[in-house]
Amino acid sequence: MSSLWIENTKDDLKLNELNKNEETDICVIGAGLFGLTTAYYLSKFGKKVTVIEKGKIGEKVSGNTTGKITSQHGLFYDHLISDYGEDFARKYLEANEKAIENIKKIISEEEINCDFEEKDAYVYTTKQDEIQNIEKEVEAVKKIGKEAEFVTEIKNFPFKIKGAIKFKNQAQFHARKYMIGLCKSILAQNNKIYENTTAIEVEKSLDGYIVHTDKGEIFAKEVILATHFPILNFPGFYFTKMYQNTSYLIAIETNQKTPEGMFIGAEEPHYSFRIAKYNGKDILLIGGSEHKTGEAVATNEKYKELEDFAKKYYQDCNVLFKWNTRDCISLDKIPYIGEFSTFMKKVYVGTGFKKWGMTSSNVAACIVTDKILGKENEYEEIFNSKRMKPIKNRWEMKNMLQNTVNNLVFDKFRIEPFGIDQIEKDNGAIIEKDNEILGIYKDISGKVYAVKPICSHLGCLLSWNNTDKTWDCPCHGSRFDYMGKNIYEPAIKGLEVVKFE
Ligand SMILES: Cc1cc2nc3c(=O)[nH]c(=O)nc-3n(C[C@H](O)[C@H](O)[C@H](O)COP(=O)(O)OP(=O)(O)OC[C@H]3O[C@@H](n4cnc5c(N)ncnc54)[C@H](O)[C@@H]3O)c2cc1C
Repeated sequence: MSSLWIENTKDDLKLNELNKNEETDICVIGAGLFGLTTAYYLSKFGKKVTVIEKGKIGEKVSGNTTGKITSQHGLFYDHLISDYGEDFARKYLEANEKAIENIKKIISEEEINCDFEEKDAYVYTTKQDEIQNIEKEVEAVKKIGKEAEFVTEIKNFPFKIKGAIKFKNQAQFHARKYMIGLCKSILAQNNKIYENTTAIEVEKSLDGYIVHTDKGEIFAKEVILATHFPILNFPGFYFTKMYQNTSYLIAIETNQKTPEGMFIGAEEPHYSFRIAKYNGKDILLIGGSEHKTGEAVATNEKYKELEDFAKKYYQDCNVLFKWNTRDCISLDKIPYIGEFSTFMKKVYVGTGFKKWGMTSSNVAACIVTDKILGKENEYEEIFNSKRMKPIKNRWEMKNMLQNTVNNLVFDKFRIEPFGIDQIEKDNGAIIEKDNEILGIYKDISGKVYAVKPICSHLGCLLSWNNTDKTWDCPCHGSRFDYMGKNIYEPAIKGLEVVKFE
């Protein structure tokens, strides 16, 4: 199931894979919003840049987003002020507001036709006892210098709300068209972008790094890990301070009136809405039904939740697209931006965007570009990737490590007590056969595919996802297709395939 964005830009840019070893100033690993924006800025400053992408550019998380460009990251600023103080909250807001302006500037200077539109953004509640949190958020935002409004009505909203916080002049766009625009500009500066080229290892060399890929080697002075979840475990240890969370989206057409703006619920379930263009018509995107990536999900259960929700308010609706993706969430909910580790100089990361990566990826690109150019950046400190604070968040950290340990020592409850014959067609399960743990998928014709369901990242027991027919890791969110091929990081390698009669 492909997103609306990928579906209507599929053949808009075709790039080669790496076919010989190369030398460059900076090797960017990963062509999503963070990698491409950083490569764009560095190219503009005259740096020699090579981008490598495992699949096709902008087809992973950034190609499956909702595409809201806003500094309104849910109800966040009141929390930031109480946990980190006013100065911190002001800088977080400013950095993300500047990102909106930066994106607008890039679109205008590069003449990127990406359906960019200014829109107001709202966080709404339908609950009386949530109103005070919205009011506190309005006060918090005003305190740190931004206008925000408390409203009780939104025109053409599908249901009654109790209140909402409104940020004016935010924006939305078609993220993949924007990324294709960035690529064209990077290529126009004589820099390189290779698709279908997977980084396997980053090795220290005398004057920089050797990026080993499945297609050749890249010798670079500096490296940017823009792989969404960093693919290197050590010495950064990001797997101890981040997890992934998945959400689902549907795009519907309806003849009913739809609301003007971008919306997200304050309380769970966090339904999210916006209008998008499709074949010259307005369609409505509805997102939500989130869960921790890797938790077992029954067939299409999550899409059904969204479709039921859509049908309740838009009885005539027709579902045009369905898709899902996930994002990295840091333990303290602040992105990690900057140097990967004190022990690996000149390797940089930008991750943990907690589903607000349109602006966060631009903030990250600006900070990393400044670091490479040796310039000061006033926001660097608040996103410091090497900060110790998450480690002090003992409760969440203990939970996360406990979850990893449970999955490493094999959560026996997830191994089914039955044999292959009992697995239904078009379904999968983990079973034990001859003292071996097997992951079995039986396709609609009854053909059996068997893998060792042990994640190639850190060895956790995988879960079967019967919506996407994938093996997913509940520890750090790596994903594999039913034949064991790795599709999502942080894992790089596939699963061991098991052959039996
Ligand atoms: C359902 C959903 C809706 C969202 N909606 C919004 C929104 O409305 N507004 C907002 O601000 N944010 C939103 N987000 C968040 C936003 O989409 C992400 O934060 C952002 O796209 C992440 O960008 P990225 O560049 O880090 O990752 P990606 O786009 O995933 O890019 C990483 C790239 O690295 C490549 N890669 C991985 N491993 C390797 C390797 N070994 N070698 C080479 N390449 C590799 C991948 O193939 C991929 O293309 C949403 C997130 C979700 C889950």
